[in-house]
Amino acid sequence: MSVETMKLERAQQLLQTYYGYPDFREGQKRIVHSLLDGSDTLGIMPTGGGKSICYQIPALMLPGLTLVVSPLISLMKDQVDALTAMGISAAYINSTLSGKEVNERIRAAKRGDLKLLYVAPERLEVDWFRDEMSALSISCVAVDEAHCVSQWGHDFRTSYLSVAPFVHSLPERPIVAAFTATATPEVTEDMVRLLHLEQPEVFVTGLSRDNLAMSVLRGENKREFVMKYAEAHSHQSGIIYAATRKDVDDLYERLRSAGIAAGRYHAGMTDDERAASQEAFLYDDIRVIVATNAFGMGIDKSNVRYVIHFSMPKNMEAYIQEAGRAGRDGEPSQCILLFSAQDIITQKFLIEQNPQDSDRKHNEYRKLQQMVDYCYTTRCLRNAMLDYFGEEHPDKPCGICSSCTDERELVDMTIDAQKIFSCIHRMRERFGVSMVASVLKGSRNKKVLQYGFDDLSTYGAMSSRTEKEISEIINVMASEGYLMLSEGQYPVLKLQPLAADVLKGQRKVMQRMPAKGAAEVANGRSG
Ligand code: ADP
Ligand code: ZN
Repeated sequence: MSVETMKLERAQQLLQTYYGYPDFREGQKRIVHSLLDGSDTLGIMPTGGGKSICYQIPALMLPGLTLVVSPLISLMKDQVDALTAMGISAAYINSTLSGKEVNERIRAAKRGDLKLLYVAPERLEVDWFRDEMSALSISCVAVDEAHCVSQWGHDFRTSYLSVAPFVHSLPERPIVAAFTATATPEVTEDMVRLLHLEQPEVFVTGLSRDNLAMSVLRGENKREFVMKYAEAHSHQSGIIYAATRKDVDDLYERLRSAGIAAGRYHAGMTDDERAASQEAFLYDDIRVIVATNAFGMGIDKSNVRYVIHFSMPKNMEAYIQEAGRAGRDGEPSQCILLFSAQDIITQKFLIEQNPQDSDRKHNEYRKLQQMVDYCYTTRCLRNAMLDYFGEEHPDKPCGICSSCTDERELVDMTIDAQKIFSCIHRMRERFGVSMVASVLKGSRNKKVLQYGFDDLSTYGAMSSRTEKEISEIINVMASEGYLMLSEGQYPVLKLQPLAADVLKGQRKVMQRMPAKGAAEVANGRSG
C-alpha cells in the first residue's frame, strides 16, 4: 500500500470516528488528499458542500496547529462547539473574549493541546498576536470565505489582505488552504494572487446538486405566486428571499394573515428578534421565513424544501449561494426565481447608489447582465449555471429544471427575430431594449418621433404584440446569443454573428413563447 493510500485511509477512519460519516464526498477527498500532500489548495464548493471537513480532517493528521481564518464571530463559536462536542480539541480567539481568556487559549496552543484555532482576519494584523503565533508550530493556515480578499467578490474585507504577510512572518511557511463558494475567474485569480498561494491545486466541485430543481418564472404575479406556493407547501420548510425590508415585511404580514407559520429576518430588526426568528426556523416552529440576503450565512438547516427568490439577485454568485440553501439533505427541493424586468431596474439602481470606482461598477453591470441572461435562457438551467461557474458537466440536460420540463411546443420565431434584428440594425445599434420595442410596436412615443424612427420600414412591424412581449422576445434573443447588451447603466443592443445568419435566412430561431404559467410549478413536483 502506498503512503498516499495509507493517508487517505487514515483520513477516512477519522471521518468515521469523529463525524460518523461513512465516506468523503468526491470533492472533499481530492482536497484532503491535496492538503495531506503538502500543496497549497484552493477549494471552491457551494455552501453546504462540506468545506469545513476539508481542513478539519487534515488538521487532525498534520503535526502542529491549523489556524483557521474565519470572518464571522458567531460562526466561529458554532464550529468550535461542534468540534469540541465531537472530541476534537479546538478553540477560537476573538473580541468577545477577555484578555485572560485569550492568554489561556494561546497557552493551550503552545502546550500543543489544540489542533484547530479559529481567528478573525483582523487578528492577524495585531503585532503581539503575530509574535505569539511565530512561537508555535503552525502546519496549515485555512482561510474560510476566501473570496473576501477580492474586490471583485461580493464582500471584500481589507483585513483579508493581511493573510499573506502574516503567513510570510511565520518562521516556517505552513500549507495555505483557501475555501470559498465563489467561483468566477477574476475572484479565483485574486485569491491565488492576494493570498500568495504557491502553485495551488484548484478544485471546483459540488455545484451540481442533482436534487435541486431550478426554475425561473417570468411575468408572474409574484405576490399571488408566493402565497399560493407557501399555502400548498405549508408542511415544508422554505425560505423566501426578497430584495428590500419593505418587501419582507409585506410578504410576512400577508403570510401571517393567511394563517401560515411564517417568520421574517432583515437588518432592520434587533439582534434578539433576528436570533429568535432564526431559532424558530431551525426548530420548525415556523415553516417559512421571509428574509433579505442578510439571512443564511452559516445557517445549517438541512431540510429546506424550497427557496423562492421574490426578485432577481444581483449576480449568479449571490443566487447560487442563496438557492443552495435548499435541499442540503439531498432530498428533492425547489429553487424558484420569480423574475420581472423591474428587478433589473432595481439592481441597477443599487449599483448606482453604491459609491465605487468605475472598474468595479463595470464589473457589477457585467455580472448583472449574466444574471439576466440566466433568467431568459431556454437552455437547461443547471447546465447554464455550471457553465457560468466553469464546472464540467455531462452534456445532457438535467431533466428537472423549468427549461427541461417546459412542455410548450417550440415555435418558429424566425420572422419575429428578423424583424427585431433588422430594426436594431436600422437604429444603428445605438438603443436599448425598450426603445427598440417601442419602434417595433409602432409607438407614438416622443423619443421615437424625435429620432424619426416612424419612417423606418420596421416601424410598427410587430404591432400585434404588446411592447412588453416584444421586450421579452428581445431579451430572450440576447440570452441566446443573437444579441449582446453593452455594459453600463443604459445597455445598448448589438447584433451578434448569429443574428446575421438569421437575417440571411441561414438559421431558424425556435423558441418557447411566452413564459409558462406559474400554476404548474406552484402545485407541481415537490408537493
Ligand atoms: P460548508 O462549510 O461548505 O457550507 P459544511 O462543512 O457546514 O459546509 O457542511 C455542510 C453539511 O454537510 C453539514 O451538515 C455536514 O455535516 C455535512 N457533510 C459534510 N461532509 C459530509 C460527508 N462526507 N458525508 C455526509 N455529510 C457531510
Ligand atoms: Zn435542466
